[in-house]
Amino acid sequence: SKVTKDTVLKKAEELKVKFVKLQFTDVFGITKNVAIPVKQLEKALNNEIMFDGSSIEGFVRIEESDMYLKPDINTFTLIPWQSEYGNVARLICDVYNPDGTPFEGCPRNTLKKVIKEAENMGFTMNAGPEAEFYLFERDGEDLPTTHSKDHGGYFDLSPVDMGDEVRRAMVTALEGMGFEIEASHHEVGEGQHEIDFKYAPALTTADNIVTFKFVVRKIAMQYGLHATFMPKPLFGKAGSGMHTHQSLFFKGKNVNAFYDENGKYQLSKTALYYIGGLLAHARGYAAITNPLVNSYKRLVSGYEAPVYIAWSEKNRSPLVRIPARRGLGTRAELRCPDPACNPYLALAVMLKAGLDGIKKKIDPGEPVNMNIYHLTEKQKKDLNIKSLPSNLNEALDELEADEVIRSALGEHIYENYMKAKRIEYDEYRVQVHRWEIEKYLSIY
Ligand code: ADP
Ligand code: MG
Ligand code: MG
Ligand code: MG
Ligand code: MG
Repeated sequence: SKVTKDTVLKKAEELKVKFVKLQFTDVFGITKNVAIPVKQLEKALNNEIMFDGSSIEGFVRIEESDMYLKPDINTFTLIPWQSEYGNVARLICDVYNPDGTPFEGCPRNTLKKVIKEAENMGFTMNAGPEAEFYLFERDGEDLPTTHSKDHGGYFDLSPVDMGDEVRRAMVTALEGMGFEIEASHHEVGEGQHEIDFKYAPALTTADNIVTFKFVVRKIAMQYGLHATFMPKPLFGKAGSGMHTHQSLFFKGKNVNAFYDENGKYQLSKTALYYIGGLLAHARGYAAITNPLVNSYKRLVSGYEAPVYIAWSEKNRSPLVRIPARRGLGTRAELRCPDPACNPYLALAVMLKAGLDGIKKKIDPGEPVNMNIYHLTEKQKKDLNIKSLPSNLNEALDELEADEVIRSALGEHIYENYMKAKRIEYDEYRVQVHRWEIEKYLSIY
């Protein structure tokens, strides 16, 4: 049945909702919310709730600070845990200018723009993420540490896996919010976990990622733990990625446009060009899919994280892997994104890269079915295999040079993002790290 303003109001009443969180996401992927008493819900649904955008980093200048929140009524859902003040629901919102036009600093609007472009080409993007995270202890002052009492490993079973129960609570809460959980398991690192949910159209998936991170953090807190999506919290241990499975379906049909029974590798030309686009723009979008100084400490060899720009339908070392599944499940898995990314912007740039591949018929070349980590420099050069940027600054230079990816972000977000990230990198660059002291202090 179709969701309308009236059905939302009725549902809020039925569910005895007392407060509604109006959520939106800033340029850096941080979720903001304005909580309103349920009496204000009708006003919110009529797009009459304003907020001061100048208080949000990277959003607007002071002189243009009044913004509207426009709730997406399809995102109305109960937050599945008790508050002493009654039930709380949430609505995810788009940010609008006072004149009623979409605000170009709103990442959700940005993703919608690229989705529209895909639709004009006849496609709907489906995406399924695998967001990994660590569960760490809190110290005596309740601050997060980087310690875990958990000594489980990949796919380990209880009782070794102490995160098991916490993860079950997370899965239950997510299911309560309408998620279809496909799998949940212990990851490679001690204290590291993964919960996979079913793919959906890109906008829903971006909303789901935001909700997912919120739920995981909240439940961890209820167990006295800290959940972190920081890409590489521990040197020498596995980092946390957010592999993103993606495919194009023909618009309005449940038919996968990546599948071609008679195609090479049973992939369609559309799939191959899309992969070509993902590879061609990888250096350009890395600053969005891998947004932190810390992100680049995950993208090193030895931990199943990608370093080299290549694709494969056999192994997991390249940037793009084509899982064996065909038919509806035909998809490309992009392995560089990490869960610190802004999911709206990340999906926008991945989709844009793929669409550009289709428009320009970018040939992805031959799949590389050997372990690239084991190739010599000469072999890599002969195969023309390039690497992802090795740090945030290099990634920002590449973003600057990639007109296609920049156009997906739009000038407003590009400028604000660039400025903030250059400062972030510079802050880091001038630090004197413990490694330097240990390496140089006594010798020089
Ligand atoms: P891996 O084998 O890399 O561990 P998982 O099985 O953990 O991958 O995750 C697979 C993800 O791919 C899930 O989110 C799943 O819903 C998603 N997926 C399945 N089919 C498609 C498709 N056609 N398009 C996009 N994502 C898909
Ligand atoms: Mg997985
Ligand atoms: Mg799996
Ligand atoms: Mg994993
Ligand atoms: Mg994977």
